[in-house]
Amino acid sequence: MARTTGELTGAEAARGALPSGARAAQAAQHERAPGGPGVNGGPLFDQRRRPLRDLRISVTDRCNFRCGYCMPRSVFGPGFEFLPARELLSFEEIARLSAVFVSLGVRKLRLTGGEPLVRRDLPELIRQLPKAPHLDLALTTNGSLLAPHAEALAKAGLERVTVSLDSLDDATFRRMNDAQIPVQTVLDAIAVARAVGLSVKINAVIQRGVNDGGLLDLVRHFREHGLVLRLIEYMDVGNSNGWRHSQVLSAREMLERIDAVFPLESIESSYPGEVARRYRFRDGSGEIGMIASVTQPFCGDCSRGRLSAQGSLYTCLFASEGHDLRALLRSGQTDDEIAKRITQVWQARADAYSEQRGAPLVKLSRRPKIEMSYIGG
Ligand code: SAM
Ligand code: SF4
Ligand code: SF4
Repeated sequence: MARTTGELTGAEAARGALPSGARAAQAAQHERAPGGPGVNGGPLFDQRRRPLRDLRISVTDRCNFRCGYCMPRSVFGPGFEFLPARELLSFEEIARLSAVFVSLGVRKLRLTGGEPLVRRDLPELIRQLPKAPHLDLALTTNGSLLAPHAEALAKAGLERVTVSLDSLDDATFRRMNDAQIPVQTVLDAIAVARAVGLSVKINAVIQRGVNDGGLLDLVRHFREHGLVLRLIEYMDVGNSNGWRHSQVLSAREMLERIDAVFPLESIESSYPGEVARRYRFRDGSGEIGMIASVTQPFCGDCSRGRLSAQGSLYTCLFASEGHDLRALLRSGQTDDEIAKRITQVWQARADAYSEQRGAPLVKLSRRPKIEMSYIGG
């Protein structure tokens, strides 16, 4: 990677540096962010002055895939008990909580899971969610069920979809999803989503020795198709995936492999708290993102809350416990009372798991964590 203005060396990237202009712009935006009112009328900040900006909403704990890094079949097999329907938040409950979160300053709602499209009538939920010019509405999906629903989702008000696709090689992809879903099904769904006007990004988790051999194929393909690919380091989420550090391909190594074939330069993040570090191809043919939560923790900017399918609020992807908002909904509390509870939870937040995992890794990893399929990515 040759260095120009705003550009990082691999070492800087590995240390988590941002071009100084980008950091300053982020800091300024944090300061002047309008925020939502906390209980005392000010912006809602946590213990580290991180605002609540982004809400991930898991609509189901179920999935039709069994990705080894998330829901391995050995754990999530035929005997596994998923949540019964009555335990899930209804669409009305999700919409009501979403509106409360938006009143507290949330600017981005992302539906996730499990696989959100296994829940019936998802377009109806999209219709019920709050809409506003400053509010970004997105969906993360494995893409296998997207094609038949894409148009209805777009008509209901969905703007953006992130499709997870870890390999273009059919045998590797089938092995990874462990559900015999062909890669072409997902590629077709991406085409349909674009055709109906959805903005599409691609997520790929890269695991050393599993799919890293196809890294450049993924980059080449989505570059040629004009789509932003975001490469994710394999994380130690949940307690089921048997995570080993040796299977993590670091963002730095990914960047080096890509840069050797498609020269890259770093660019500024698009908004404060963006998880992906952005790089553009030096020939002007688009960009990629790197989500390096293992080797370049971004806890300092983390503005994400997570609502589980059961209606508990988690303040970190690696949290052990959530805060039950469903009980408040179902015991007749008012929106103001619920807002007050969310405010208390957020203001007490001090999570920074990824920053802390380094030295006491073993100790932290043994602490039971919520499964990612309960609270989404
Ligand atoms: N089922 C949907 C999907 O796969 O897009 C939405 C839920 S999934 C939990 C959300 C994202 O988390 C996906 O992009 C997935 O690749 C990512 N993910 C799951 N387990 C992961 C892990 N151990 N490390 C890194 N990313 C992971
Ligand atoms: Fe399902 Fe998504 Fe987890 Fe894969 S990553 S098992 S598609 S929830
Ligand atoms: Fe946010 Fe927790 Fe991830 Fe840190 S470890 S970036 S606090 S979700």
